[in-house]
Amino acid sequence: MFMKKIMKYLIVIILLALIGLIGFLIWKYNYKNEYINNKPNDNYDKEPIYLDHVDEFDIKDSNYLERFYERYVAYKKLHPDYSDDKIITYVNIGLDKPFYSDMEEVDMSKKYLIICNKYHNLKKNYVPDLVSLDGYGGGSMEREAASYFKKMVDAAKKEGLSLKNVSGYRSYNTQTSLYNSYVSKDGKAKADTYSARPGTSEHQTGLASDINWVSSRFENTDEFKWLIKNAHKYGFILRYPKGKTFITGYTYEPWHFRYVGESVAKYIYEHDITYEEYYATFILK
Ligand SMILES: [Zn+2]
Repeated sequence: MFMKKIMKYLIVIILLALIGLIGFLIWKYNYKNEYINNKPNDNYDKEPIYLDHVDEFDIKDSNYLERFYERYVAYKKLHPDYSDDKIITYVNIGLDKPFYSDMEEVDMSKKYLIICNKYHNLKKNYVPDLVSLDGYGGGSMEREAASYFKKMVDAAKKEGLSLKNVSGYRSYNTQTSLYNSYVSKDGKAKADTYSARPGTSEHQTGLASDINWVSSRFENTDEFKWLIKNAHKYGFILRYPKGKTFITGYTYEPWHFRYVGESVAKYIYEHDITYEEYYATFILK
């Protein structure tokens, strides 16, 4: 008798809960539609608004990030001729702000796909797991980058070409004295076009190598021509290409190669983009 009473109450409670749930779902559906149709322009962080904002941009394979919405809109006003994909990529890179104006720490969780540039700096005390490049020009590089660097040098050697690392890993302190010496020679503005401020040099990541000859004339060598065609097979990319200074922050450096791993290097090579564009499209979340 007692159990029967409890069962009755239970059934009533379950029925009431079901009615409540159905009511809530109907309300939520209508509320959401109303929200989208009315397009209110305050409370940016509510989900229905998120959908509105995505709709404002014509997106293909770009990485739209809601937290940059207002920057996209502002940048679009400045560059009405740019496609939305370009607006999103460029803002993700940080190009709507001057170099060095708003530094963020390098996201080390990206491993071989970290970005270290005029928007992202390394910690002063960051030192990668280093391996010597004795017999390959000397100096050192990060372990995996070094092993692929050696494979690349060996492959070039088989074709009668000689590649050597002339500058691989550089510590924060080395970069500080290097940068300071350039500043006293050429002034800060000029030095900034070719030398990284301490903490922002890709050489501190251990993933970069200056090969053979730090000179624009390196471009005319057979070694350079070979690298341009083959470096991606060993996971390396030309990091500061011609005509991309406004993106990378550096003048053309035919000698500076960066390890990113084979598949990413292949993508960047085939699509002829900068690492900044790759990172802003596929890595940044
Ligand atoms: Zn370099």
